[in-house]
Amino acid sequence: MICLVGFMGAGKSSALVELAAHGLSTADIDRLVETSEGLPVAEIFSTRGEEAFRAAEEREILAALGTGELDAIALGGGSLGSEAVREALSSSDHTVVWIDVDSETAWRRVRASTRPLAQDRDAFEALHAERQASYRAVADVVLPAVTHRVWDRALSSVRLLDRLPEGTRMLWASSRNGEYPVFVGRGLLGSPVFDQEAGVMPGDGRSFLFTDEDVGPIYGAGVGETEASVTVPPGEGAKTMAEFERSQRELTRLGMTRSDLLIALGGGVVGDLAGFCAHTYQRGVPVVQVPTTLVSQVDSSYGGKTGVDLPEGKNYVGAFHLPSAVIADVDTLATLPDAELTAGLAEVVKTALLAGGQLWEEVRNLEPGEILGRSDLIFDCARYKCRVVEADERDTGLRAVLNLGHTVGHAIEAVTGYGRYRHGEAIALGLLAALRLSDADELRAEVHDWQERHGLPVRLDPAVNIEAVLLATGFDKKKTARGVGFVLLPEPGQPEFDCPVPDDRLRAAVEELIR
Ligand code: NAD
Ligand code: ZN
Repeated sequence: MICLVGFMGAGKSSALVELAAHGLSTADIDRLVETSEGLPVAEIFSTRGEEAFRAAEEREILAALGTGELDAIALGGGSLGSEAVREALSSSDHTVVWIDVDSETAWRRVRASTRPLAQDRDAFEALHAERQASYRAVADVVLPAVTHRVWDRALSSVRLLDRLPEGTRMLWASSRNGEYPVFVGRGLLGSPVFDQEAGVMPGDGRSFLFTDEDVGPIYGAGVGETEASVTVPPGEGAKTMAEFERSQRELTRLGMTRSDLLIALGGGVVGDLAGFCAHTYQRGVPVVQVPTTLVSQVDSSYGGKTGVDLPEGKNYVGAFHLPSAVIADVDTLATLPDAELTAGLAEVVKTALLAGGQLWEEVRNLEPGEILGRSDLIFDCARYKCRVVEADERDTGLRAVLNLGHTVGHAIEAVTGYGRYRHGEAIALGLLAALRLSDADELRAEVHDWQERHGLPVRLDPAVNIEAVLLATGFDKKKTARGVGFVLLPEPGQPEFDCPVPDDRLRAAVEELIR
């Protein structure tokens, strides 16, 4: 059974209407309570009190879940306060779908109503913040509240969860130029998600595998039936125009056509390069991202940025090309070299710092080595990234926040020829510089210790030329006509972008890294 949860104003009732149009039998728990109590919800609240309403609500939910006669129900925004309800929802028989609405949209939608808990704006916002954690805890699926008729496209992916390994979570990513399902879980390679009839793989053409020499032999067989494959050398060195051209010509020789599909299996390098090839091959073919590194599972495979490096600068040539789906099998992290896993933690801590709130609380308390068992955190990082992309797909504003730590980090990578530091390692150093520039001294100290504990660098190799790093910072492609705009983070969850930083402060923050 599909169980819709979410805050008031999320649009659960309209979702039920959409689902009914797809032939599902549906019920709104509020309506069931009104029928059984013989009173409108607002009146139950005012005459008998919230507690009486909650008791009736719990009874109706448990009955609906127990009989299993319905295909979909919508639960009231506060119903997860009941432990019995939470318990019943956790059964694998149900797919819990969280329709995630931001508090502003929710308020706009309900402020004129008679809903008892929507009378005061401040109280409403506090309640919204308070309930997020309970929705997150039970959700198998997260859908955006503002995407028009999303069930027309998302229903088959939601239903597919019944056939995927237990614990798989799904997120519907949506932004201006497209939308796609994101699956995060264990055992997804080799699962029905890759079957043509499951509907996740776009179109009905053939699949061509794009991977690297390390990943292909281990996981290549898990992506379903493929026609042929293109393999590039492992590592950043493959993100070049030369490798781009070689791969395109290879695809031509293999006979790929515009109705076929590319599957990018590997880390961020494969994802960026394959995505760019997909964008340009015969003016564009779909790409499905199957990320196998921590960096790519929490960050790089979402949002459609693709491209290659030039000797003059990282990611200098590229394009936006949204994936048609992202399938992140966290089991693949088990074979990832330790150093790569560690480097990926830099993107995890970056995301948690940007998101603030519960994600930051969980990540700051993460133990070394623990990430392998925490697909929930990987999912939350993906969710944060997709939310930012939803607001600003083409990187003209808010998306810049994702570059926290990247201005100095990219400069370090460039100056050291992309060989001395892994991307994540350079970002770890960049984060420390960014936090210093943000005057977030305590937070910098905490992140410093966290990175040290998890094996990330906190000190720049003294052999690295500081002047060159400072110079390279000015060449960061985020540079605008007004100069280098930095992302600053005075506190977790409060990023600011496009902030000018005086040269001497930048120098001090970078010099501090070699001390
Ligand atoms: P990567 O792709 O180079 O992978 C690291 C190494 O691990 C490679 O040698 C690879 O062969 C190997 N590997 C990958 N998965 C494995 C597995 N499961 N088991 C064993 N070995 C495995 O590195 P990365 O850190 O994933 O990606 C870094 C790249 O991502 C950079 O080029 C960066 O610019 C890019 N990136 C892009 C975005 C974006 O939005 N497009 C965002 C962040 C980073
Ligand atoms: Zn990065």
